[in-house]
Amino acid sequence: MGAAMAGQDEATWGAVDVVVVGCGIAGLAAAVTAAEGGQKVQVLERATFTERGGNTRYTEAFLRMRDEATVSDDFEADFAANAGYHLDPALVAGAAGDYANWPSLLRSLSFADPELVATFASGIPEAVAWLKGHGVRFGDTPFFGLTESIQRIAVQGGGLALIEALTPIAERLGVAFAYQTTAHDLVIDGTGRVAGVRAMNADGGRGVYRAAKGVVLASGGFQGNAEMMARYIGPHGRYARPVSRGGYYNKGEGIRMALAIGAAPAGDYSDFHAEPIDPRSGKTEAVVMIFPLGILVNREGQRFFDEAQGTVDRTYEAASRAANRQSGGLAFCVLDGKLDQVQGWQRTIRTEVPPIAAATLDELAAAAGIAREPFRATIAAFNAACPPGEGFDARRLDGLATRGLFPPKSNWARPIDRAPFRCYPVIAANTFTFGGLKVDPDARVLSTDGVAIPGLYAAGETVGIYYGRYTGSTSVLRGAHFGRRAGRHAARR
Ligand SMILES: Cc1cc2nc3c(=O)[nH]c(=O)nc-3n(C[C@H](O)[C@H](O)[C@H](O)COP(=O)(O)OP(=O)(O)OC[C@H]3O[C@@H](n4cnc5c(N)ncnc54)[C@H](O)[C@@H]3O)c2cc1C
Repeated sequence: MGAAMAGQDEATWGAVDVVVVGCGIAGLAAAVTAAEGGQKVQVLERATFTERGGNTRYTEAFLRMRDEATVSDDFEADFAANAGYHLDPALVAGAAGDYANWPSLLRSLSFADPELVATFASGIPEAVAWLKGHGVRFGDTPFFGLTESIQRIAVQGGGLALIEALTPIAERLGVAFAYQTTAHDLVIDGTGRVAGVRAMNADGGRGVYRAAKGVVLASGGFQGNAEMMARYIGPHGRYARPVSRGGYYNKGEGIRMALAIGAAPAGDYSDFHAEPIDPRSGKTEAVVMIFPLGILVNREGQRFFDEAQGTVDRTYEAASRAANRQSGGLAFCVLDGKLDQVQGWQRTIRTEVPPIAAATLDELAAAAGIAREPFRATIAAFNAACPPGEGFDARRLDGLATRGLFPPKSNWARPIDRAPFRCYPVIAANTFTFGGLKVDPDARVLSTDGVAIPGLYAAGETVGIYYGRYTGSTSVLRGAHFGRRAGRHAARR
């Protein structure tokens, strides 16, 4: 995969102003915005019409916002706290200056740069208002954890509502959609400008879509590509399957074709947003969010993580990643009979497969395939470290913490001692990969020298902006905001 000038003998399948690759929220926001700007737009989409929309189709679409007009209080601070790793202060100090004058090393640096984050945060209310003007409704949707601390609203009807609202609008505006058409590489013209995309259709035919003004890469991350998962995430990437059917369609071509022409990478290529799911279930997002009330053990019967270090919405990603690092990428969430005293615990479970249940812990270990002797020792040590007394409260951080145990359990620590005993197997599902492309505030893809690559834009998961802990409930917004920016800038060119 690489880039080349269009050959004389290549079939031209379309010639428009703007070519958009992918039709999740990022692609649709870009396509509709460009079309509203008077541009002729072609969308290429790998999936069929009925399966289109990638991850967007399956998300509940929580948005990190206080209300429709205001992002969460901690929006920029959370990005700043997860901007990158051991960043060089001498280099990053330059970010205080005018963006136009940032040195090339800084513009192309792989970190969540404050300019990008600030324009992202300030652009969100406009993107949300635009969606509302296109028939999307927002409100409250119950979160699946017993505790939460992130301010959020949600798209009513989830991501599917976004797809179903924007697709007919795009069609009415004359946007052309080519389904079962996969973009593979970029076409560069004689001046070095990105001038189109080379694609393959369902019959294996190849052709070129020419773009007079720009190509928007909105084709998601690489969670559906086993080779890239192994290459970037490492051996344990093999255990992290996509959390939805939509993620399987995201095979990283958008990222690869841009890197091949000198785009700057951004976002942590070695990580992904993880959710704890039951691997026995084929449902979308079959989460097991009850682990803070129990313990997590691996196949060897050992604990490996503080299950209750905070509210579950801030902990589940780290818990999932820790499970992913265990042998076989597998852990077990072990619970005892006291769980039934907790009102509403069932809504934290989205797998339809019942837990493994047993009258004794030995039987539970045998049924689940957990090593019995070390499991016994783990339970004994854990129970002995639980504090005596009352005060358990599943709805808040209750401070019931183990004493003298490593790893500790910082809240909700109660002995595992009452039948029936239950456990759910848990793996880390891959919601989306972090590695992507560096863009400027107009969603223009930057080169490794920090220069905007003429004619090339990226939006959504294809944009790399996350490091460390995912700033939750910002990925749909990333699609809407950068899609809008890309479509608008391409239309202006
Ligand atoms: C179950 C689930 C729950 C989630 N919950 C939330 C949440 O509450 N809040 C939040 O902010 N985020 C959430 N996310 C993440 C968020 O939904 C996605 O990151 C976001 O919707 C991605 O939008 P996108 O347009 O970038 O990519 P996608 O929606 O994945 O769209 C990419 C499109 O590109 C197509 N494509 C891929 N490669 C090619 C190619 N080479 N050529 C042509 N087409 C191609 C795909 O088929 C797909 O249609 C969740 C995700 C899932 C799956």
